[in-house]
Amino acid sequence: LKHSVQAMDGVLGEVGSDSPELKQVQQTLEQELPSDPKEALALLREARNNILKAGQKLNEASQQVKATMNAQVEQMNALSKRLEHAEEQARNDPLTGLGNRRKLREFFDTLPTNEAATFLMIDIDHFKHINDKYGHDVGDYVLEKLASLLKASSRSTDMVARLGGEEFCIILAQSNIAQGITIAEGLRKAVEAENFESEQGNIHINVSLGVAERLPDEPVQTWLKRADDALYHAKNNGRNQVVAA
Ligand code: GH3
Ligand code: MG
Ligand code: MG
Repeated sequence: LKHSVQAMDGVLGEVGSDSPELKQVQQTLEQELPSDPKEALALLREARNNILKAGQKLNEASQQVKATMNAQVEQMNALSKRLEHAEEQARNDPLTGLGNRRKLREFFDTLPTNEAATFLMIDIDHFKHINDKYGHDVGDYVLEKLASLLKASSRSTDMVARLGGEEFCIILAQSNIAQGITIAEGLRKAVEAENFESEQGNIHINVSLGVAERLPDEPVQTWLKRADDALYHAKNNGRNQVVAA
């Protein structure tokens, strides 16, 4: 009994609950019982009641600890959700909601090297004129709409990202150069046909695209450089066109 009482006292002490009842019990256990049976019985009864009281306290303390733990678990859940959200935001472009360069880099890491993949680099033609003519806000709106169009035209396994400014890209998973050119040409036509309705009237834009299929064992950097060079040629050739690396 002494050990149990000590254990109870220890637990109550740890949760910051004082237990004078247990001190009484301990004292009773340490001394000789009075020789008068009545007195001895009274002392034992008191000890018994005190043990019950301490048990009750222990029960309450355990409930409190449980409630505190639940509250802490909830706080931790809320925190990890916020962290997840922040992590996700760090990978996305705030204007268009598309992935940014960071997300793109992560996508490259997960791209199987034994499957075909084609990179489309997309740049709006003379976008500076749109800003100059309609203002930066309308320019932003056009970027958002174009982003939606690109996203809607791609498969869930593709990666659509904003590289910065008026430059976007799509990685076509499991697609070779011929498939890439077909998709790029489809996108070029879709953008050409799109009417970007703004408060300041209907806006039409064109895009130039550079397309490159990844070569076996090709580093990502050189792969993207070839798409970028192809885009450069598309611009120099008069824009609104697709050029394959
Ligand atoms: P090119 O056909 O050669 O690509 O001509 P361009 O005018 O599209 O290209 P340039 O690089 O000369 O200009 C890009 C413009 O895009 C200039 C910059 O103000 C604008 N721009 C970049 N980022 C944003 C943005 O987030 N919002 C808006 N509205 N404009 C942007
Ligand atoms: Mg441009
Ligand atoms: Mg550009």
